[in-house]
Amino acid sequence: MSSIDSSACPCGAAATYDACCGALHRGSPARSAEALMRSRYAAYVRKDADYILQSWHPRTRPKVMSLDEDLLTWTGLTVHEHRVTGKNRATVEFSASYRGADGVPATLHEKSRFLREGNAWLYLDGEQR
Ligand SMILES: [Zn+2]
Repeated sequence: MSSIDSSACPCGAAATYDACCGALHRGSPARSAEALMRSRYAAYVRKDADYILQSWHPRTRPKVMSLDEDLLTWTGLTVHEHRVTGKNRATVEFSASYRGADGVPATLHEKSRFLREGNAWLYLDGEQR
């Protein structure tokens, strides 16, 4: 858990995993909804279901989640727009590319909604485009 990971962050930012989403995965609060969204994508890449659940708003959070059987391989993230829509609300529109179990490349295009509770941004829900 404390091993140093100085490889490029899977979220695509020009930073190492440790300095970018790794810091959030270790418990630092996200400074923006976009940062939280990037860290959730990186958690999918790393199959860190605990972080996905932790960063999910209690109102919409699934009770259990496992990525052990997940056969998707996430291959890239593009953030199209980060919009602050209120004091504690924001949306992030993004495309995440992946290969399915069959190896065929595909893209998830989603506009996600986030709420801030205290100093923590949380994922509320998303609408596929
Ligand atoms: Zn990152």
